[in-house]
Amino acid sequence: MLPENTPKEAFIDGRWALAPKTFTLRRPDTGAPLAEVADVDAETARKALEAQIEADAHWRKQTPAARGAVLRRWYELILEHAEPLARIMALEMGKPIREGRKEVAYAAGFVEWYAEEAKRIYGTTIPSPDPAKRLMVIKAPVGPVYAITPWNFPAAMVTRKAAPALAAGCTVTLKPAEESPLTALYLARLWQEAGGHPATLQVLPTTDPVGVSRVFLEDPRIRKLTFTGSTAVGQQLYAQAAKTMKRIALELGGHAPFIAFEDADLEKAVAAAITAKFRNGGQSCVAANRIYVHRAIHDRFAEAFAEAVGRLRVGDPLDEATEIGPLVNAAAAAKVEAHLSDALARGARLLGGGKRRGTFVEPAVLARVPLSAKILEEETFGPVAPILSFEREEEALAMANASPYGLAAYLWTRDLGRAWRMSEGLEFGIVGVNDGLPSTPVAPFGGMKLSGIGREGGKWGLDAFLEIKYVSVVIT
Ligand code: NAD
Repeated sequence: MLPENTPKEAFIDGRWALAPKTFTLRRPDTGAPLAEVADVDAETARKALEAQIEADAHWRKQTPAARGAVLRRWYELILEHAEPLARIMALEMGKPIREGRKEVAYAAGFVEWYAEEAKRIYGTTIPSPDPAKRLMVIKAPVGPVYAITPWNFPAAMVTRKAAPALAAGCTVTLKPAEESPLTALYLARLWQEAGGHPATLQVLPTTDPVGVSRVFLEDPRIRKLTFTGSTAVGQQLYAQAAKTMKRIALELGGHAPFIAFEDADLEKAVAAAITAKFRNGGQSCVAANRIYVHRAIHDRFAEAFAEAVGRLRVGDPLDEATEIGPLVNAAAAAKVEAHLSDALARGARLLGGGKRRGTFVEPAVLARVPLSAKILEEETFGPVAPILSFEREEEALAMANASPYGLAAYLWTRDLGRAWRMSEGLEFGIVGVNDGLPSTPVAPFGGMKLSGIGREGGKWGLDAFLEIKYVSVVIT
């Protein structure tokens, strides 16, 4: 059962409304109906847009301290509601409840950080070459923001965008993924409870992402588009946003390499590879999708890894013991199955797992995967780990970089020189050195190449919602 007070209505101009129609949200594990959720159409989206424009004029004039204070209350409320939020995620997109709690803490971390940073939006003075002038740089909010989020981190992807935008003095209309509208709506309810002004944060669930998004993308008053999702959709939105020259942030797909060198601490590297690969059942943009192990330790690594993977508990996401829940839907499970059978057909060896039951796929390990296998090129977004071996550092670096994606990369070594050489050589926005979980609200998150444009998190995440304004004053 859903927690009490889980909103199913759209949140527009500080009010909750089901109109004009609804859609049925289903559990990914059983397919059972979960809720009837507001299905916003383009006409309703236009009303939300007008409300946002009006609210923006007011919100941008609030002092940073006042904005920070609302964010601080939002942060506290999110932590107080960690349990219902984790439960909603388990029910709507299948995240194991243990992981859901961690995501809530991570999501709240962005709100806490930007509640504090709101007060530190400093400008700069520039020594003038002309004695008659004074030069300075001030910061201004970019203006009304339209945000689109995916289902795989239904809480953190919302706060990673909304918290810095609101701190900077921008308003946000958010379109959550069709699979996970309830987490976003619950967060909006808490924003309202925290004292967030009407239409500063609106949430529009819809089964028509194209029609609703068009309303915001075509309107020149919306000054920024921030999107997290697949590369294919990001590319379309990039083109659409160009016509009105919107500021843009694209957090897209990834295909992370995980490289274990011969001097790695084997036990720690195996444990980190489990986290980097199987967190959220492999449905993470920073999921290790290719594991390269030095030939000298390959067999020992593969054996220990396959054994640990075999112990992962698959089951009901609401069960405290569950480590791997269902995949988000049947199409996702079918894609994982297709990657598995393609690799096997090309001669890879299955070291365990791989059976599919509905939307559940047993975590699987593949060895001796040929370079032609699809899994080494496309994002699998599921619990299958391919292991390959290498001999030289340059070879590992070349294989890791031979991907159109550039989001996260992981490497395991105790050689400091090698750690630096690899960190500098890897064409990825995030590098974990002996670290399988580098994400934190205080550091920049984002990718190179087809993984996107811009960074979220830390001071970079706030800069993304600020315009730089140069002011020159003649004093004579
Ligand atoms: P998706 O691109 O299918 O959907 C993401 C969002 O875009 C959803 O809200 C969806 O409704 C919306 N959308 C889809 N088509 C649209 C269109 N034509 N116009 C406007 N909106 C549209 O992606 P997904 O399957 O929900 O999420 C998984 C993807 O997200 C993976 O590729 C993953 O790597 C990526 N991801 C990236 C990050 C990151 O920070 N880089 C984080 C999480 C997920």
